[in-house]
This record gives sequence, structure tokens and C-alpha cells, in this order.
Amino acid sequence: MPVAYIALGSNLENPAQQLQAATDALAALAEVRIIAGSSVFRSAAVGPGEQPDYLNAVVALDTSLAAEDLLDRLQAIEQARGRERNIRWGPRTLDLDILLYGDQQICSPRLQVPHPAMAQRHFVLYPLAEVCPREWVLPGGDTLAALLSRCSTDGLADTGLALNYHLQH
Ligand code: ATP
Ligand code: MG
Ligand code: MG
Repeated sequence: MPVAYIALGSNLENPAQQLQAATDALAALAEVRIIAGSSVFRSAAVGPGEQPDYLNAVVALDTSLAAEDLLDRLQAIEQARGRERNIRWGPRTLDLDILLYGDQQICSPRLQVPHPAMAQRHFVLYPLAEVCPREWVLPGGDTLAALLSRCSTDGLADTGLALNYHLQH
């Protein structure tokens, strides 16, 4: 089964609780087994207007779902947490993005993998590095280590919080 890496982000309505609820919802999917969860990082919002800080984390999971089916499940979880899509990059209760899906490169109208912005985002790369080997080679040829070496940690804080997940067998 492919290993997928999912980025979790929230800056509304108790972000720490939102990330934990998303982890629980992922763990509850029959076709998903969570392998690892990162710690939770805080950073200032990038996007329009004044927004609260973001909390972000990454989970690694094994899944029998095809990538687009996994995206459907992620969007259903976002909806269940009250996600509204009014303003692009506006504040949100929950954002769930597929960073990597095995070694696949996907470019369909609704899904691009690797996530196109991941290389520029410290709040994605540093939690990812806690759950994904740095030697991992991304489609395109860069290792995770190479992406990290080009991405500053300025403005990124490890909260020390950890996602709770149950190792499932
Ligand atoms: P960003 O992609 O810059 O992080 P965002 O997460 O705020 O922005 P959303 O509003 O959550 O963007 O999603 C917009 C669309 O992005 C979704 O409807 C989905 O079809 C598409 N999309 C493309 N690639 C991915 C991916 N790898 N993971 C999640 N959604 C994706
Ligand atoms: Mg996003
Ligand atoms: Mg998204």
C-alpha cells in the first residue's frame, strides 16, 4: 500500500483541537492506517488580511484508497469541521492537503501531487521531516533533505504539542 503524507492546518476555532479531530477522523477511515504523526508547529498566517496564527502538522498513513478517493475523504473531513471556501487562503477551521502519495506524480484538474507549494513552506517541510525519511526522493529528483536545506525556519515554532494517534495493525 502506498504511504501518503497529509498536511493538516488550522487557524480558527481551537486549531489544536481541529488538528487532533482531523487525525481522529483519518484514523477512523477503514482504508487508512496512520503510521506516524508530527508535532504541532505554529507560524504566522500567509494570506489576505489580518489572520490568527496557524497550527500545522503532518501525518503519514498507509492507504488502500486511490489518491483522488483519498482527496474526497479529506474534503469530507474538512466539510465536517465547518470549512468554508470563500476567500482564497483565507482563515480556515481545517485544511487537509496531500503532500506526497507514494512515489506518484499526479497532475489532474483536482489534484496535484507532490503538493505544488510544499517546497516553499517551512510549516509543511519541517513537520514532514519528523515523519518522512530525509533521504526520500520526490518525483522531480530532490530529496526532502535538499528541500529543507533551501527553506528557512524563520517564524516557525515547535509548540511541543503532539498529535495523538493509535498505532493500528
Ligand atoms: P494551497 O493549495 O495553496 O495549500 P488551499 O489548501 O487553501 O491552498 P483549498 O481551498 O484547500 O486550497 O483547495 C483548493 C483545491 O485544491 C481543492 O479543491 C483540490 O481539488 C485542489 N488540490 C490540488 N492538489 C491538491 C492536493 N495535493 N491536496 C489537496 N487539494 C489539492
Ligand atoms: Mg493548503
Ligand atoms: Mg487545501
